[in-house]
Amino acid sequence: MKAVKYSKANYLLVALMSIALCSASYAGQEFTSMQMQGVELVDVQVDVDAAAKRLSKAVQFPTISNQDRNDFDVKAFEGYHQFLEEAYPNVHKTLKREKLGKPRAYSLLYTWTGKDPSLPPAVFMAHQDVVPIAEESRDQWKQEPFSGAIADGYIWGRGVLDDKNQIHAILEAAEMKIKEGFQPERTIYFVFGHDEEVGGPEGARHVADVLEKRGIKQIAFVIDESAPLIPGVFPGIKENSALIGIAQKGYMSLELSVNGEGGHSSQPPEHSNIGILAAAITKLENAQFPYRINKAVRYQYRFMGPELAKDKQPMYEAVAFGDDDKTTELEQKFIEEMAADQVTRAMLHTTIAVTMFNAGIKDNVLPPSATAVVNFRIAPSDSKESVIAHVKKAINDDRVEVRDISASTPPTNIADPHGQGYKMLEKTIRQTWGNDLIVSPFFVIGGSDSKHFQARPFAPNVYTITGIQLESTAEFAGFHGVNERILVDEYGRSIVFFYQLMSNLEDL
Ligand SMILES: [Zn+2]
Repeated sequence: MKAVKYSKANYLLVALMSIALCSASYAGQEFTSMQMQGVELVDVQVDVDAAAKRLSKAVQFPTISNQDRNDFDVKAFEGYHQFLEEAYPNVHKTLKREKLGKPRAYSLLYTWTGKDPSLPPAVFMAHQDVVPIAEESRDQWKQEPFSGAIADGYIWGRGVLDDKNQIHAILEAAEMKIKEGFQPERTIYFVFGHDEEVGGPEGARHVADVLEKRGIKQIAFVIDESAPLIPGVFPGIKENSALIGIAQKGYMSLELSVNGEGGHSSQPPEHSNIGILAAAITKLENAQFPYRINKAVRYQYRFMGPELAKDKQPMYEAVAFGDDDKTTELEQKFIEEMAADQVTRAMLHTTIAVTMFNAGIKDNVLPPSATAVVNFRIAPSDSKESVIAHVKKAINDDRVEVRDISASTPPTNIADPHGQGYKMLEKTIRQTWGNDLIVSPFFVIGGSDSKHFQARPFAPNVYTITGIQLESTAEFAGFHGVNERILVDEYGRSIVFFYQLMSNLEDL
């Protein structure tokens, strides 16, 4: 057994970042660094080789979520559930495990009853499903994507970064804790969804319904996946950083359709169904949602701002302490900078993405209908209703029908980065990875299963981070891409992170 002891940050010698201590003030508030100082690394022993073998085995179950839900692989999920029972005997002896979901019950809810079950519980989330391998990319993989190969210091395969690493790091940590006789103060739930990659309508959403029906009024703390620790993960930050998602956008897909008479192409009308629909889409794309700095972005720059370029401090300060009712010149400058980059621009407004367009079957037949699908990621200032109203107004054409075809979700609550949950999480990050990294809240432009919790009043404080250190953005390309891999030793550190988080929950 190779027991790896995680007591000093020997993995990546990240250049010591310069913490810009800025002393300007804004309406009495100081724009100083928010980075927690002087947290000591914990000393935890992990049998990382044995843990890596279990994660390797997990990868070998192809728990794929295809867009076509008829392709659901029952055998892969059942095999995986069976394996979990064998791999983590103490967890399965001590915690209650339920299989939930509607209509398919392949999500797992584990209940680890606390010493004081009257305390608001904590929820640890991750997902079992993985995205498929694009056929044309298969030969670019250095290891078979479902082999779970352990080679060159890495564990390879689809799901090792998204998101079986989190499931297994949580279970490894719980197994260690139980062996040590630990029982949490508050009840901890593990929620492992089975359809996150298609939005979680069957799994996480149903589990949230179940917990709500069981009378849980308030969840103290939720953790779920998001960005891994990685230097350069966010535009403008070169240093190693741990970003904690505090809010997620809403999600909706609208089908636009034009139904009218088809007919022979020798006697066409002036405007065909395709022409009418194309014009509607052009009008919609020309009516982009206005840019706004939302509260999650203000929080983000309150924490991130003091660590960024010195010459931009006044701008970040204006954003951090700004007021939603008026936009100052500095904020306007910020909006222009953000809008120049595709990633940061999405943080400023509800996005419009035309993703599908269908009409016609033959060159000399006018199609009787034309349809398109537009996907929206809804900003906190909008709602499903306000987006539909915006679309109808922009198109302004009664011939175009608008229909919501998605398992839509509203924009979520914004978790408090000044609250105990955030502080506890930052402390745990620093106990695991040290002090030479920037920790900051951020606004998530994508979303994960936890949005089904975070959009409800019972879960105001959902924090999202993938607790694994990557070496570079090249490794990050494995996320939904080719050569998905994580370092074995870094996986050991992920286990330490969750192990420590379970102890620190007592701080809440
Ligand atoms: Zn994921």
